[in-house]
Amino acid sequence: MSAKKVIALSGGVGGAKLVLGLSHLLAPERLVVVTNTGDDFDHLGLRICPDTDTVLYTLAGLADPERGWGRVDETWTFMKAVQAMGGEDWFNLGDGDLALHILRANRLAEGASLSQVTADIADSLGIGAAIVPMSDQNVATMVNTPDGALAFQHYFVRDRCAPTVTGFTFDGVELAQPAPALMSALNDKVAAVIIAPSNPYVSVDPILAVPGLRRQLRECAVPIVAVSPIIGGDAIKGPAAKMMRELGVEVSALEIAKHYQGFVDGLIIDEVDGDLAPEIADLGMAVEVGPTLMRDLSDRIKLADLTVNFAARLEGGINR
Ligand code: GDP
Ligand code: CA
Repeated sequence: MSAKKVIALSGGVGGAKLVLGLSHLLAPERLVVVTNTGDDFDHLGLRICPDTDTVLYTLAGLADPERGWGRVDETWTFMKAVQAMGGEDWFNLGDGDLALHILRANRLAEGASLSQVTADIADSLGIGAAIVPMSDQNVATMVNTPDGALAFQHYFVRDRCAPTVTGFTFDGVELAQPAPALMSALNDKVAAVIIAPSNPYVSVDPILAVPGLRRQLRECAVPIVAVSPIIGGDAIKGPAAKMMRELGVEVSALEIAKHYQGFVDGLIIDEVDGDLAPEIADLGMAVEVGPTLMRDLSDRIKLADLTVNFAARLEGGINR
């Protein structure tokens, strides 16, 4: 296999599943994982980076498989003490997780950039792949609702995705620049750009909203392929399907194709959605039909393999 890099764009849970598969498939120096920072927020004096941390914990083998966030075998002494003292307790921080947040907050306060701190944390956790937050400048995803805009974690965690969604804004994104490690990866030899099956609205769009990034990814002139997070008309986890209904679009892999139309060269959809393939192809992208539900590690590796091979097949066949 060539030594060219694979750039994967990822949110949290869904993204980290495919990224874990990719990490088993590719030599570490070939994998660059760009994480969404639109979920990041300040809480109890700490900078919390949910999607980046999900990827870090997943690749380090420390993620809690049931909850989908935080560390496995976590204890909650800190949270209980916060509660007992009447502190804000709507966002859970486990004791081990807290160590990461405090170490990061410390480094940030000393003037290190988010991407430097993240690279060092990845290193300390024994992760070989590059984990790159999309930008060192803060970007805050806002969820617009009929009653006004909500900060993402207020919508997602505090309000449990109950409010009706009318759209999204990414506060601060106009001043954001792609993280330096992402810029240098873009100038390296790249084999493919992979959009993980993450939530398109609140995990992938914030990354693609970083000024210039969409164009720079296209200018790599390598295949850009996405994996649909929608299987059989529903999301596996999280609010993607609910968001689609509220935004007035059909909950289907076809809508995912429309969402990425003009940007991706190919989309991987699940076997149960195979009948959508002709319509998706009509949108001007290649379609691959395969098993996209990742139950165990072997599913993750197989889907990663399918994705990388799909991209490889598209290479050269792209008209730009
Ligand atoms: P979050 O940031 O933690 O919300 O996670 P992501 O945005 O990365 O991923 C959420 C999306 O992952 C949801 O829309 C799910 O439908 C999708 N997802 C989760 N597991 C799977 C899976 O096994 N296969 C596919 N195709 N999508 C998945
Ligand atoms: Ca997220």
